[in-house]
Amino acid sequence: MEFDSIINLAYVIAATLFVFGIKMLGSAETARRGNMVSGIGMLIAVVVTLLDREILDYKWIVAGLIIGALIGGIAARVVKMTSMPELVALFNGFGGFASLLVAWAELEKIESLGWQLYTGQMGTPAQFSSFVIYLAMLIGGVTFTGSLYAYGKLSGRVSGRALVFGGQKFLNILLLVAILGIGVVFTWGENLDTASSLFVIGVCLALIFGVMGVMPIGGGDMPVVISLLNSCSGLAASAAGFVIGNNVLIVAGCLVGASGLILTVIMCKAMNRSLGNVLFSGFGAASQSSGDDDDREPKAISAEDAYYVMEAASSVVFIPGYGMAVAQAQHVVKELAELLEENGAEVNFAIHPVAGRMPGHMNVLLAEADVPYEQLVEMDNINPIMPTVDVAVVIGANDVVNPAAANDESSPIYGMPIIEAHNAKTVFILKRGQGKGFSGLVNKLFVMDNSRMIYGDAKATISAMVNELKG
Ligand code: NDP
Repeated sequence: MEFDSIINLAYVIAATLFVFGIKMLGSAETARRGNMVSGIGMLIAVVVTLLDREILDYKWIVAGLIIGALIGGIAARVVKMTSMPELVALFNGFGGFASLLVAWAELEKIESLGWQLYTGQMGTPAQFSSFVIYLAMLIGGVTFTGSLYAYGKLSGRVSGRALVFGGQKFLNILLLVAILGIGVVFTWGENLDTASSLFVIGVCLALIFGVMGVMPIGGGDMPVVISLLNSCSGLAASAAGFVIGNNVLIVAGCLVGASGLILTVIMCKAMNRSLGNVLFSGFGAASQSSGDDDDREPKAISAEDAYYVMEAASSVVFIPGYGMAVAQAQHVVKELAELLEENGAEVNFAIHPVAGRMPGHMNVLLAEADVPYEQLVEMDNINPIMPTVDVAVVIGANDVVNPAAANDESSPIYGMPIIEAHNAKTVFILKRGQGKGFSGLVNKLFVMDNSRMIYGDAKATISAMVNELKG
């Protein structure tokens, strides 16, 4: 077998391992193995690429590997679960930046050889090479600064508010037209001197466009944006694969691009919002008024009094939300669940697909606290049995239990699927005060007759309940 065929066979094996690995990530039992399988695929791809490219000097590659592995290893250990979206944002951003650099390096190569000697890594015509170089630069550049800005919003380094100003949309359209126009001239122009100046202007505009695109999106919607940027980083890598003629990079980039897009769509569906609404509406930027006309006051109860109700309950459902992540209450919640089970109650956890600030946020936190996977019940399965539940304990969740989504047509979140906590016999809502959720909407669940508020940090409240139950 020829060397080329062996390389391509190895790439096919690597790509197959990526696909199987991603498939295995779909369930908690196989996810770890899925990660490993994809990792092995990537190792094969890297080793084969190093052999294939007839590299003359491994010095920089080894240095990059060591520095990258060090940073990755430390980040994996140090970064807290609540900061995962920020870390993913940075990963995406650097992925995009790498594609931009690959495109730039290839342009430099063309400039040093001249078009006559350069046939393109894939033996493709000049226009195609120019096109993919510009595309890899464009998507990579937008992903880089967009992801850095998203990171800033999530980590609180810049304001999480949606920044909207007059003429913003017009300016963005103008930028886009300029970027595309320059791309057309770059692709079809013959003169290499102007090509490199056009490329540099294109890079600057792409970097500005990344910031401008993320600016009007509120901090709470960043997980959707990050998932979209993740998809973009995959597409940029795929374009870079065309630039350097590497099949496995094209395939891996497409896999990332497609899976990121699917996740983006799933999140939008779970919020009953379109991608356009997430990207352009400035949702959650300002307080919304729907539901403010209700003058009933929420009724409060102490953790100690709530204990008596919990002790008598035969079925309890915990509904975690963003506040549980903020309070880091997952371990005490697990302790409380065990005590309630010992007391004879059936305990479940109701999981809303967008509870928290990243997809699977609650699953990850509860898994960290070793809550058995069978106790995590999806929204569609818990809602039908909610009227039979004695106590629903809402832990720092707000929007995902707002009944307005189900019964108030004037509400901006009307139609968003929710966990129907209001149908339980008794509802305890654990939060620090009267703060609104991400949508900025009033939640009428708090003033319903079967609801009681337990004010305070969720971890402190649950700990108090645990102490009562331990007697
Ligand atoms: P929300 O942001 O709606 O509400 C969280 C609540 O937690 C607040 O009302 C806050 O009230 C309370 N809280 C904060 N800190 C604490 C604490 N230490 N102890 C107790 N309570 C606390 O969260 P949900 O999870 O209900 O909803 C998620 C929202 O995010 C949805 O609107 C969803 O659409 C959106 N979203 C989610 C994405 C995802 O991928 N998961 C993606 C994009 C958007 P108080 O200040 O009074 O304590």
